[in-house]
Amino acid sequence: MIDVIWDQAHHTPCSLAVSLANDCRSATIFQDCRPLALQDCHPLWQPPRRPTPPTQSLRPHGMLRTLPLDDEFQVAFVPSYSQIAVLNREASQLLERLPLRAGDSIEEQEAIKQLFALGLLNDGNNAIPVPEAPQVLVAWLQLTNACNLRCGYCYIQKSGESMSVATAQNAVDAVIRTALQHGYPVIALKYAGGEASLRMDLVEQTHRYAQAQAARYELGLQAGLLSNGTTLTPRRLDRIASLGLRLMISLDGMAADNDRNRPTIGGGSSSGTVIAGIERALVAGITPDIAITVTSASVDGLPDLLAWLLNRNLPFSISFYREHSGGGTTHNLRADEQKLITGMRRAYAVIARHPPRWSLTSTLLDRADLSRAHRRTCAVGENYLVIDHHGQVAKCQMTLDQPISHIRAANPLDVIRLDQIGMRNLAVEEKEGCCTCDWRYWCAGGCAIATYRASGSYDARSPNCTIYQSLYPDVIRLEGLRLLHWHLPHDLIDDITRM
Ligand code: SF4
Ligand code: SF4
Repeated sequence: MIDVIWDQAHHTPCSLAVSLANDCRSATIFQDCRPLALQDCHPLWQPPRRPTPPTQSLRPHGMLRTLPLDDEFQVAFVPSYSQIAVLNREASQLLERLPLRAGDSIEEQEAIKQLFALGLLNDGNNAIPVPEAPQVLVAWLQLTNACNLRCGYCYIQKSGESMSVATAQNAVDAVIRTALQHGYPVIALKYAGGEASLRMDLVEQTHRYAQAQAARYELGLQAGLLSNGTTLTPRRLDRIASLGLRLMISLDGMAADNDRNRPTIGGGSSSGTVIAGIERALVAGITPDIAITVTSASVDGLPDLLAWLLNRNLPFSISFYREHSGGGTTHNLRADEQKLITGMRRAYAVIARHPPRWSLTSTLLDRADLSRAHRRTCAVGENYLVIDHHGQVAKCQMTLDQPISHIRAANPLDVIRLDQIGMRNLAVEEKEGCCTCDWRYWCAGGCAIATYRASGSYDARSPNCTIYQSLYPDVIRLEGLRLLHWHLPHDLIDDITRM
């Protein structure tokens, strides 16, 4: 029997009532900054919009790659383009002996059509299409600069200042005006700080206003709250739930691995409080998305953290923090890279033993998203407004101190798109070394700020490129094992994950 296994159910964290997967945290840093965080509640992969050619004309895509899972199964994919699928031996043999011949069975013809729909076959055109532009306008609202933690990688200048209600409503108006001018059907708002939950009154007023205005102008609205997890009282969680907000909580490890990066304002431990906050969120009916920032020093603790999260069916995303100050020797940087690669593989092994129902291909490796093709790593410079507590507009939350527009402007997004002086988030085709890379539309070349800090230019490949290229096959193999896990009897899959 020919068996082709792929993510038919589109089990996303969203479909399982969890979310904020696929945000865009930056490599060096920085918690909770994925501009796409709130826009990804749609199927993991859009099939190519093209009619099926005659099956006899179909051949394996020129860039088709396979990775063995065991003697019976292999995972197949076309980097930057296809859906990831698992093929059994019969399906693999069919692939090898294409084209179909007259008289081949109905089963074989149906399998070929499916492989074509997944993007694994074509009729001779091996070009990888340029991905479509995003359909969601994303906005970061810096509601407060106050925070009770002092994370080492935080970029916010702490103060007691918050956005006024009037500014917050004007910010929502600016986002809606911009969306209408640019034809975006959906807006996504991220309520951020500081610690935004310290100002739940402001979150609530702003979100109620956004709901009313989005309905008035017939725009889709997605929204979430970014939290450090230490202030989530039952009352605040009830308000988050009643507002229908998604919740993202940052946690870097189960104990010291978190506390080194994320101490309290007095230098104490925060991990226990965050873990209690996560447990309370679950009791309140909220499934938070856990944002993990990994360093070469903390990566050894990642397996324990993932085991804890997987036990609770909690979605998570993993980003890198690495210094690229230029102070390290080449030897040290390589050792750092190697430690991260080895540590990430140990963490992936934990996932292979307990894979979740939803795909992790957009959340396992920094800002890479192997679930769909995209030209830019994040929304910066294209469909993103970062609004500070005074209503000033910047390109990225990392550059809040360099605003280039204001919510009073007729079209702040135009100002951002036309700016040639500040940071530039180039499309991957414009980055040297990336433009010909097979992974380009799944990777997009990494965080622009991390690249600039490492190389002094925006048109270079990511400083994490070696790590990405080493681990992409691991992520794909892991996805293959996950697909098998939910497809095969579990005693069989146990044998495979031990291999
Ligand atoms: S440039 Fe993009 S990936 Fe980098 S910190 Fe800003 S939003 Fe995140
Ligand atoms: S950063 Fe590296 S892996 Fe990513 S697109 Fe560029 S060359 Fe490819």
